[in-house]
Amino acid sequence: MRFGVICVMMNAKKNVTRGFTKVHRGTQRKIFVYLCVFSVYLCGLTLKAQDFEATMAKQGLVDVQKVDPTILVELKYSTTDNFVGKDVYGDLTRAYMQPMAAKKLAEASKYLQAHNPNLRLLVYDAARPRSAQWKLWNALPDLPENERQKYVADPRKGSIHNYGCAVDLTVANQDGKPLDMGTKYDFFGELAYPSREAELLKSGKLTQQQIDNRQILRTAMRQGGFSPIEFEWWHFNALSREKAKMVFRVVN
Ligand SMILES: [Zn+2]
Repeated sequence: MRFGVICVMMNAKKNVTRGFTKVHRGTQRKIFVYLCVFSVYLCGLTLKAQDFEATMAKQGLVDVQKVDPTILVELKYSTTDNFVGKDVYGDLTRAYMQPMAAKKLAEASKYLQAHNPNLRLLVYDAARPRSAQWKLWNALPDLPENERQKYVADPRKGSIHNYGCAVDLTVANQDGKPLDMGTKYDFFGELAYPSREAELLKSGKLTQQQIDNRQILRTAMRQGGFSPIEFEWWHFNALSREKAKMVFRVVN
């Protein structure tokens, strides 16, 4: 009788142990699967950034900070501080341009520092993949297309940014703080139009200091060989869209 009780107790213990091991193995398996899924997700993110960068490098574009390490870079579309309010670029945080454009930017930077040793160029956007161009274009559904094109190029036509020949930037002080240009980057309205500065000064909507700051940027960029545009104080082209299309391929 006592032996029988002992056998029953031992079997019960075995069953509990087996049950526990079963549950434990099941949990281990689940953790393993979660870890695998998480690793694949992380690899995906890394590959995405490497893909953009590898594609740009393969197409011959260069990292502007490798050409001139004094240039500051803060890609606004790689943050949520942009007009979309979302991170459009993900892990793409480096400013790439065609070598001829990066060389012009280094010239502009050199000119700026020769005349204002405490100032630096601060790049907000450079080469922009066309997939990101669609996201920016679709983020302004309320603007009619002809109005929208003042601020975001139609992805079907392609932006000069998509060829790595345009740059958006400002001027910052030694601490990296941007100078007051009268509006934020990507401000959609007349206050950002270089073509309206004289009127805006007269009406008191822009100060002389803000226009002088824009002039510091424009002078340096012109010296580097860039052209300003009518609607955005921050945008400069190294080549016209027609020439960029003839010479370079779009970054997708
Ligand atoms: Zn631009």
